[in-house]
Amino acid sequence: MPKLKTAVFDTKPYDRETLERASANCEMEWRFLPFRLSEETVGAIRGAQAVCIFVNDHADRASLSALASLGVRYVALRCAGFNCIDLAAAKELGIAATRVPAYSPNAVAEHAVALLLALNRKIPRAYIRVRDMNFSLNGLVGFDLCGKTAGIVGTGKIGRITAQILRGIGMRVLACDPFPAPEWAQQYGVEYVGLETLMRQSHVISLHTPLTKETRYLIRGETLRWMRPGVVLINVSRGALIHTKDLIEALKSGHVGGVALDVYEEEEGVFFEDLSGEILQDDALARLLTFPNVLITAHQAFLTHEALEEISRVTVENLVNFASGKPFLAGTVLA
Ligand code: NAD
Repeated sequence: MPKLKTAVFDTKPYDRETLERASANCEMEWRFLPFRLSEETVGAIRGAQAVCIFVNDHADRASLSALASLGVRYVALRCAGFNCIDLAAAKELGIAATRVPAYSPNAVAEHAVALLLALNRKIPRAYIRVRDMNFSLNGLVGFDLCGKTAGIVGTGKIGRITAQILRGIGMRVLACDPFPAPEWAQQYGVEYVGLETLMRQSHVISLHTPLTKETRYLIRGETLRWMRPGVVLINVSRGALIHTKDLIEALKSGHVGGVALDVYEEEEGVFFEDLSGEILQDDALARLLTFPNVLITAHQAFLTHEALEEISRVTVENLVNFASGKPFLAGTVLA
């Protein structure tokens, strides 16, 4: 098999470690780049025939044209969501693209539930207090999830597992999806309803849809007003499912009772980076961080050993297939 040179954008130590381990027995040459793909950074690939990108890389028309002119014919996304690539442009330019559609839906669903539990029972605040020898419980009152209603928007791989976990806790679970799964719903006692009914009835709403034209700002002023006072929102999917400024208004008014986010509309350049010694320039994110009832993690829902191993296994197998002219793994092809 010819040796394939692959440029890996936005590489973190855990990416490098698992990709190297997964390719230990292959003829693979990696060029690990710590920065994101953009029209400006394309030149750094230096002779690579394939590139590997992650959620905040910019595989837009300009970057893809520049990659094509340097001879790149394959972009491997090491993530499930594919809103970071212009697929129409990739097709026109003759660039193949794949993703890793299901590396561990459990990892992401478990993080969504971890955020919900931590937010509701105020675990981060309690942890900080106890570390400071403050053993007071004032302000730490949560609510029983058992018996409350959860709304799952999007019952694909991750949404379904989240729903099943919440059913296990004893919640009533409502769901909406343009492509419902009635047999699954019956098996787990989940009820499909319209989006408005879900939003009006749920104490907890968790978003599990991809980011598309239709789902952008699914949570905005109008839909926030449908929700019951005190609603708890969970978003581990994509930041732009939520209109951040409208969310901040709903938090300020007290209408929204709590928000847990693993993704943020403007996360690019902030999430995944250590900015602890710098001045945060994003005023909306800075405002969100001031609310005692907002819990934010920096896009880590996928970050388990199992998920990283699977991402690397699928990515390496597809790169090997590309190099040897074999078809990509079933279900991974985008373009
Ligand atoms: P999936 O394709 O299996 O499921 C998505 C579901 O959303 C589908 O059933 C689809 O019909 C439904 N949907 C589409 N438009 C909808 C709408 N308007 N209303 C309701 N439902 C709608 O995807 P998945 O594997 O469950 O992943 C969901 C999303 O999670 C991904 O697109 C990605 O953006 C995000 N994700 C985040 C992380 C993370 O680390 N935070 C990791 C993996 C995936």
